[in-house]
Amino acid sequence: MKTVFVQPERCVGCKQCEIACAVEHSQSKDLFKAVFESPKPKPRIQVGPGIYLNSSFPNKCRHCDPAPCMAVCPTAAINRTPDREIVLIDGNKCISCAMCAMVCPFDVIRYYETADALKGKIVALKCDHCVDRQSRGLEPACVEVCKVNALLFGDINELARSSSSQLAKAVSVAAASVPPEPAHLPENFQAWRKFGETVSKLNER
Ligand code: SF4
Ligand code: SF4
Repeated sequence: MKTVFVQPERCVGCKQCEIACAVEHSQSKDLFKAVFESPKPKPRIQVGPGIYLNSSFPNKCRHCDPAPCMAVCPTAAINRTPDREIVLIDGNKCISCAMCAMVCPFDVIRYYETADALKGKIVALKCDHCVDRQSRGLEPACVEVCKVNALLFGDINELARSSSSQLAKAVSVAAASVPPEPAHLPENFQAWRKFGETVSKLNER
């Protein structure tokens, strides 16, 4: 299964992924024109605070299988692509009941007006894994723009394996760079050592 894999320890919170996502889902696909569009294009990835001080976490739809949002949608507005890899929302079928947002375990669904649905209608919005870009052989816009590799696109097992081996390497390099603590000798042991040193010096004479 191909997915966007998040490495939160690399994220610097620059929000370039949010901007790239909004531009990719704009009508013009151009940053400067997108700013003046109506409705304003919205990002489908949200960069929020991470669990550690001064860290960030880019949060987006995990395209779960089975998908709780899809199971509860009363109008069948949420569906999966035939290869089962992407969960998509049809804004024209969405009635903004917020059932999907209530059951989403990752809190990634937002409600906005979009250019695809009826004018003035607020609909559920979330990551579509850049399905259009993927059909052109491109990776999702957030992945392409992230310069610190906090977002990677590929087979989930391969990415998880390479991420855990990189982490293990980083931990062993860091552990090797910590100087060993000087051995602390008990006072009576130090006294005996001094005595021994003095005796051996006397013997040298
Ligand atoms: S572009 Fe990458 S580093 Fe920047 S906020 Fe998004 S995930 Fe984090
Ligand atoms: S919106 Fe939430 S529940 Fe639905 S597929 Fe995405 S992460 Fe899963």
